[in-house]
Parts: sequence; structure tokens; C-alpha cells
Amino acid sequence: MPPAKPIIRVTVWSEFRHEKKNPKVAAHYPQGMHQTIAEALGKHADLAVRTATLDEPDHGLTDEVLDQTDVLTWWGHMAHGEVSDAIVAKVRTRVLEGMGLIVLHSGHYSKIFKALMGDTCSLTWREATDKERLWVVNPAHPIVQGIGPYFEIPAEEMYGEPFGIPTPDELIFISWFTGGEVFRSGATWRRGNGNIFYFRPGHETYPTYHHPQVQLVIANGVRWAFSGLRIKDTCLNAKALEPLPVDPEANARSNTGHK
Ligand code: ZN
Repeated sequence: MPPAKPIIRVTVWSEFRHEKKNPKVAAHYPQGMHQTIAEALGKHADLAVRTATLDEPDHGLTDEVLDQTDVLTWWGHMAHGEVSDAIVAKVRTRVLEGMGLIVLHSGHYSKIFKALMGDTCSLTWREATDKERLWVVNPAHPIVQGIGPYFEIPAEEMYGEPFGIPTPDELIFISWFTGGEVFRSGATWRRGNGNIFYFRPGHETYPTYHHPQVQLVIANGVRWAFSGLRIKDTCLNAKALEPLPVDPEANARSNTGHK
């Protein structure tokens, strides 16, 4: 029998504000975008899913929750500035220790993504119901298994280049939009021991998180980002494993024939 797959503990985080203010958004996501994403992930037997939102104490990201999270997904937009710097610092530390992070759509401008990228994370944008075609540029990658050469979202916000990110470790998708722009819409990085995946689609006024291929990419992304690791940063003073010369400079001179 093959070994059982590990259960991956996923926390789906969202600011959960547009849904409360804009009936158009609430029509697509009556319980919030995080619930739609969580329900889609919850259909996979190897994923144990919980949600957390901005207005909960500690934004729902207590030490206990972060300790029990293998992969965190992040959607934010209008309230990036309300996310506590202390919580961002904790999430960043947890990523460096090995927690996976999936940053969705307007999360490109979140404090946590900017902190981990060390860049502007800016882009160009337009809300004009473009069609988006996402081209798979890395067909062997685990994140795109089951996707095919491309997939389309009939109506989405446009994001265009230049995208102010460090050169990705791996580029997964490039999007084309009806208006002519292209965008690096799926990309990965390693920071410390943590795997990070940025995935572009998901503007709140469209039903994007109900799209089966968007749901599949997020589930694949969660599995790819999972490491199961928690490696604390220690910056150790190291003891030598072998005997060292008493005077390293003298030893170096004798090795090269100098006295
Ligand atoms: Zn948007």
C-alpha cells in the first residue's frame, strides 16, 4: 500500500469587507470569498480547511492558528492598511520557518506580500470586463496539473506589466487580456524555508472563485506550497567538527611552504 498522504492544514484568510458593502460582490459570495475558496478546498480529502478574517481578534491569526497552519491563503484589497504590523511580522516569520503562502489577486499589494518580496509589487490595472486567457508556461509544474495548455475567465479585471516583483523562481502562468496587455499571473518564490505562490485572478465583482480551473490551481498550489516544516531561525555559533590548528595563519603558511 502506498503511504497515506499527509493532511495539509490550510487557513483561508480574507479581509471580508467588499462582500458586506457591495451587493454585487455579495451576490457572488453571500458568505464571503473565503467561504467559497474554503468550500472548494474542503472537497479534497487531504486538505483540512479553516477560515480567518480581518475583523476577528488578531485578524483570526492567533499564535495557535498559525502554529496549526501548514499553508495560508491571502486575499485583501481595500483594507491592506488595517492589517496589524505585528500580525504581518508573525506571518512572515512563520513563512520563513516553512509555512506555505498563496497570495491571491489584489493581495499583490498586501503588507505581507510586499514584506516578503522586498519590492513595490505595483502593476497596471483596469476594471472593464476584459476576458483573461491564462497560458501555462511551465507545463511540468505541479500547480498546473489538470489544467491543459491554457484556460479562460470570461470577465475579469485586467492586471498588466510592469509587475514590481523580484524575478520569480518559477513562472507558471502568463495572462493575456482582451485589451492587449500581458501579465505574469502565476509565479513562485522561496523565502527562508517557505514556498510562496502568487495567483492573479479573483477580482471581487466577478464570480472567479467559483471557476473550476481557478479552484483546481489553488488546490494544486496549496499542495505544492506544503512543506510540513517548521525550522526556527537560530543563527548558531558553530563548534568545529574536526580539530583546528592553534594558529590558522601559521598553518596556512606551512601548507604553502612559507615559514
Ligand atoms: Zn481587483
